[in-house]
Amino acid sequence: MTGIYLHIPFCKRLCHYCDFYSATALTLKGAVLATMERELQCLADFVPDRDAATIYIGGGTPSLCTPGELGSLLGAVHRTWDTSAVAETTLEANPDDLTPAYLGELRALGIDRLSIGVQSFIDRDLRLMNRRHDAAAAIRAVGDAQRAGFDNLTIDLIYGIPGMSTAEWEANLGQALALGVQHISAYHLTIEEGTFFGRLAREGRLQPVPDETSEKQYALLHDRLTGAGFEHYEISNFALPGRRAVHNSSYWNGTPYVGAGPSAHSFNGTERRWNVANNRAYLDRFAGDTYFETERLTATDRYNEYLMTRLRTADGLRATDLAARFGAPKLQEFLGSARPLLDRGLLLCDDGDRYRIGHDRFLVSDTIIAELFATG
Ligand code: SF4
Repeated sequence: MTGIYLHIPFCKRLCHYCDFYSATALTLKGAVLATMERELQCLADFVPDRDAATIYIGGGTPSLCTPGELGSLLGAVHRTWDTSAVAETTLEANPDDLTPAYLGELRALGIDRLSIGVQSFIDRDLRLMNRRHDAAAAIRAVGDAQRAGFDNLTIDLIYGIPGMSTAEWEANLGQALALGVQHISAYHLTIEEGTFFGRLAREGRLQPVPDETSEKQYALLHDRLTGAGFEHYEISNFALPGRRAVHNSSYWNGTPYVGAGPSAHSFNGTERRWNVANNRAYLDRFAGDTYFETERLTATDRYNEYLMTRLRTADGLRATDLAARFGAPKLQEFLGSARPLLDRGLLLCDDGDRYRIGHDRFLVSDTIIAELFATG
């Protein structure tokens, strides 16, 4: 099975924290979408399996597309891939775009899951981040989506926002829970180079929150959502039972995926390819011989990626699975590196087979996992 990702590289305006590739000029929208349809056919030869597992339309802001544009893109997916067993079709949406009429059209296109970029229910935070919606629009959008029949909704939230108190974060979580959504993704704000926030930080005009605040807000996130019946199944992801994100889970499980559009990545198990993160260059290169960059993963790359993706999930990894994928010597190497981490309580082993990082260490999981990496 293959995950299908479509990257819509357009936004009405750029959020101050965002480092995804997206353009605010819409002049190339028609050409980019048409090229993505052709790219979907090229991608079918890259992966072993033409059975589509999931379809995910992300970006950028996919909800800037008209129903006609989305229908045309989905039509290209259906023509190229066997979509009879697709588990979910997700569209990322800005709350402002979700009018009742538009929601009805999305349902008619077969989109059965929405990922709504709420980020905060505090207008001050939304203005600081340069979001184009306000809190009332976010609440209204979720209600309208539910009334339109969407029963699989996820919302994005951000914590660790400068100026947001821990009490305000708790109120945000309460509001999120009151909406009755099935899934919540919550990310700590990261201040990235090349973003407006990155510039403010460099000039000393924006300070990241202290580590202690991050830890408190993260602990609150875990406690409030798990207390409400959500499963904390990956560092940033929480789901009601049976509502884990299937598309994202396939990234963490190593399932092959293809991505169409500027900056999109594809992976077939041994090789990764990716497109240039620029709309004009994407169009120009697609007209040439080779439009993508490619990298063949070494055995060490694959092993390290496996550790990185599996150990960021609550399920962790099974030693038996690791041995089946990479061989007994690699398992011995893993067990040797794991021992000191187990002794320090940074890694847990439940039943002699399953290794995982406890939720209270998720925030520092990258450092823990790096100690397990193979080097050659
Ligand atoms: S709407 Fe999404 S993709 Fe566009 S700038 Fe904001 S965070 Fe980035």
